[in-house]
Amino acid sequence: MELYSGYMNRLIEELSGLPGIGSKSAQRMAFYLMNLPQERVARFASAVLEARQNVRHCKQCCTLTDQELCPVCANARRDGKTIMVVENSRDLAAYEKTGKYEGVYHVLHGAISPMLGIGPGDIKLKELMARLQGDVGEVIIATNSSLEGETTAMYISKLIKPTGVKVTRIASGVPVGGDLEYIDEVTLLRALEGRTEL
Ligand code: ZN
Repeated sequence: MELYSGYMNRLIEELSGLPGIGSKSAQRMAFYLMNLPQERVARFASAVLEARQNVRHCKQCCTLTDQELCPVCANARRDGKTIMVVENSRDLAAYEKTGKYEGVYHVLHGAISPMLGIGPGDIKLKELMARLQGDVGEVIIATNSSLEGETTAMYISKLIKPTGVKVTRIASGVPVGGDLEYIDEVTLLRALEGRTEL
């Protein structure tokens, strides 16, 4: 259906492939972009392209970074013996914002989901196990409290147990009233402090 132009259709199709963007939002975005000055659009396009070209996985914790090692892994003051396992770089950022966690991370880039066909081989588990060859005292599993997150936590704990490394699971936090940003940090810290051994 050629309602607009071939170019517009292509743009709308690309945009609607983004997470959380339905066809209506995609159309709105496409029209918005067409009304912007060319140089704004060029800046936007090159930001997308350059980020994709230059962002890579930290060779230690797999988080997204511009360098070979992310700032956390590159920081000699961090406790490299404590590894917190999170599902994505956004979770890492949330814990970093608390400013209270001194260990390092491991970013899985997903969670095991039999329903979506995501198996243990599709997330950065092999990389985590390789890190346990080194001097590691505790692995804190901080995957989400969703079905996928819990499945992943169980799977990882079973995998790590035989190595003798201590495995803990964060407590699921209960939000309390107040400023949202502040709640998140308090909740995260409470979940971290209330972690239990698996
Ligand atoms: Zn790193």
